[in-house]
Amino acid sequence: MPGLEDLYREIILDHYRTPRNRGELESPPAIEANGHNPLCGDEITVYVLVDGSGDDAVVTDIKISGQGCSISLSSASMMTQAVMGKTVREVRALVRRFKGLMSIEVEEQPGDADIALGELEALQGVVKFPVRIKCAVLGWNTLAQALDSTPAA
Ligand code: ZN
Repeated sequence: MPGLEDLYREIILDHYRTPRNRGELESPPAIEANGHNPLCGDEITVYVLVDGSGDDAVVTDIKISGQGCSISLSSASMMTQAVMGKTVREVRALVRRFKGLMSIEVEEQPGDADIALGELEALQGVVKFPVRIKCAVLGWNTLAQALDSTPAA
């Protein structure tokens, strides 16, 4: 029986080989943000479409384009699945939760610890390789940056 680490590796490779929600969205109406990790050469563009305004707006579509290593691209791919249909408030909480998983200091808020990570747990092994943490959070920081420019309520 394969161990948990093998399973995690399989999940990461699957998302790297078959990235989910890859492509572009017309912006506007989608919001576009670019992220760059010079340490590794990862460059990711996030396109996110939200319906509504403020923290209650709902993510109705998200696409990722760009290039990068297996960790940055698989993390971004998993992220797109994890945030689809969520409110901006829920997405921000998930970003904090994921950064916490990556051992990045975040200001946790009540309820954050209850958020299920699902497949994202496959990336927890990245913590053992500090240089790769920036790869894993690149898509997340880029999405957060995009959401910062959504219309206020
Ligand atoms: Zn990378």
